[in-house]
Amino acid sequence: MSTPQNVAVNGSRLWQSLMDMAQIGATPKGGVCRLALTDLDKQGRDLFVRWCEEAGCTVSVDRMGNIFARRPGRDDSLPPVIMGSHLDSQPTGGKYDGVYGVLAGLEVVRSLNDMNYVTEAPVEVAVWTNEEGSRFAPAMVSSGVFAGVFDLDYGLSRADLDGKTMGEELARIGYAGDREVGGRKVGAYFEAHIEQGPILEIEGKTIGVVTDCQGQRWYEITFTGQEAHAGPTPMVRRKDALLGAARVVDAVNRIGMKYGPLACATVGLMQIHPNSRNVIPGRVFFTVDFRHPDDGILAAMDGELRAEVERIAGGIGLETDFQQIWYYAPIKFDESCVAAVRKGVERTGHSFRDIVSGAGHDACYLSKVAPTAMVFIPCIDGISHNEVEETTPEWSTAGCEVLLHAVLDRANAMAEQVKAPA
Ligand SMILES: [Zn+2]
Repeated sequence: MSTPQNVAVNGSRLWQSLMDMAQIGATPKGGVCRLALTDLDKQGRDLFVRWCEEAGCTVSVDRMGNIFARRPGRDDSLPPVIMGSHLDSQPTGGKYDGVYGVLAGLEVVRSLNDMNYVTEAPVEVAVWTNEEGSRFAPAMVSSGVFAGVFDLDYGLSRADLDGKTMGEELARIGYAGDREVGGRKVGAYFEAHIEQGPILEIEGKTIGVVTDCQGQRWYEITFTGQEAHAGPTPMVRRKDALLGAARVVDAVNRIGMKYGPLACATVGLMQIHPNSRNVIPGRVFFTVDFRHPDDGILAAMDGELRAEVERIAGGIGLETDFQQIWYYAPIKFDESCVAAVRKGVERTGHSFRDIVSGAGHDACYLSKVAPTAMVFIPCIDGISHNEVEETTPEWSTAGCEVLLHAVLDRANAMAEQVKAPA
C-alpha cells in the first residue's frame, strides 16, 4: 500500500509530553537530572510505559532493561520498524537529548491511532538503557548488547562509582526484564534527536538528514623530559616536556583544520608534572580526540599525528609513550532509510540539509543489526548536555512529521518486499 499524503502528527501533544517528562528530575535551571537506573529513571520509565499502554501498545522489557512498546501491523509476522532513543540524562542535562526521540516515536504511534492507520509491518518505540554512560560507563551499552557489540554479562556487570552494577539496579527498580536482548530481526530503525551542534540553526534549516556518524580515535600521550631549575638551566640544554606538548596541541589543530570542515581534532586534558612555576616541566600527560566520517581520512590524521609527535619529541629530546586507547569506525547509515527520511522531508516541505552526527547515538550500534537512519532537529545555539538545552515546538513537530513519513515508508515497503514474487 502507498503512503497517504495527508498524514499528520499532533505537535502540541508531543510538546506537552516533553514538558511532562521533564518534570521528573527537573533542575532549578530548567534542565533535567535523571541518571540511568535511579529512582527518577524508574519514574520516567513508568510514565512512558503508562502512556504506551494508554495508546494500546504491548510493552515488553529485555534483560538489559530496554523497553519496547509495540503497535501491531497488518502482518504482525513482519520484522518491526523501531523508533527510539533514551530517557536517561547527564547530571546537568537538558529536556530533549534522547527524550525527544522516544516521545516523537510515541507521538507517531498516537497519530497512527488518531488516523486509524494500520501499517503493514508492526511499529515499536524503544527506550535504550544507559545511553549517556554518565553513571555506568561505557555509553550506549544496552543498545550495544542488543547489537551484539557487548555480551550480556559485560552489560549487566557495569558498575557505578559506588560499586552498584547495572544488573542489581535494574532488579531494584523493577526493570530487569526476561526478554532476550536482541536476537530478533528488525525491519528498520529510526532515531530522531536534537542536533547537539549549531549547524542547522546557523543555516536556517529545520531538518538534518543524518547520513553518517563520525568515526573516532582517542589517544593518550606522555612526554618525559627532565625537570630542572627555571633559572640556572640555559635554554639550549632544556628537555621541556610541556614545550613538546604545546607543539603537539598546535599540530593537532593544524591537522584538524587541514581536513576540515568535517574533521575535529582536540586536546582536552593535560596534566603537567610537577606543575610548579619555577621548574621546567619534566613530564606531561595529555589526550587527543580525532573525529571524521571517512575512515581513510581518519587514518591519514592518525599517521600525521604519529609523525608530528615523533618529530617534535626528537627535536627536544623527549621520551614518548603513545597509545591509541579507543577506535570507533565511522558509520554510514542505510541508503534506503536515509532515502525514506529525505522523502519525508520532501512530503512535509521542511527545509533541510544532509548532516553528519558528531556524537555517538544508540542508532550507531543499531546500524550494525538493522537498516538505520536518523532525523536531526536544531537546538538553540547548538547547546546540549546542559540544563539550558532548548528547541522549539515548531522544530519538534517538524522532526516528528518527518519521522512519521519515514516510518510509514519503511513499514509499508517491507510488506511489498515480502509480497513481491521472487
Ligand atoms: Zn542522546
